[in-house]
Amino acid sequence: MDKNYSVMQIGTFGKDLAAKGRIMAGEQLGLTGCEVSFNYSPAGTFTPFVHSHKQNEETYIVISGTGMFMAGGEEFPITEGSVIRVAPAADRAIKAGETDLSFICIQAKAGSLTQASGDDGVITEAKASWMAE
Ligand code: ZN
Repeated sequence: MDKNYSVMQIGTFGKDLAAKGRIMAGEQLGLTGCEVSFNYSPAGTFTPFVHSHKQNEETYIVISGTGMFMAGGEEFPITEGSVIRVAPAADRAIKAGETDLSFICIQAKAGSLTQASGDDGVITEAKASWMAE
């Protein structure tokens, strides 16, 4: 039986993610259009290298904490709610500030999105159990 959906449980963004540091969702969920990672950096820590990509654009979404981000030669503060898009060729780095930093990184091939939910979504006749008749 092939399901047309997949589910994983990563736990809380604080304690549970701290124990693992980083969780990649792609293989476990069978993602085909992007990679999603859930990341946790204790206060003051950082990935000890700068990186860029060959063809993937990244979107970083800060879930909690504070820190600094470097992209395209600039450095700027980040905090809960910060969302940063980085083009493939740009150098990038991230650092946790005075508080632990939790963030999601979504990686997808730059230029691959040819339509978005407004055009792609279709309302169907199906009903969920919580929808009144
Ligand atoms: Zn990357």
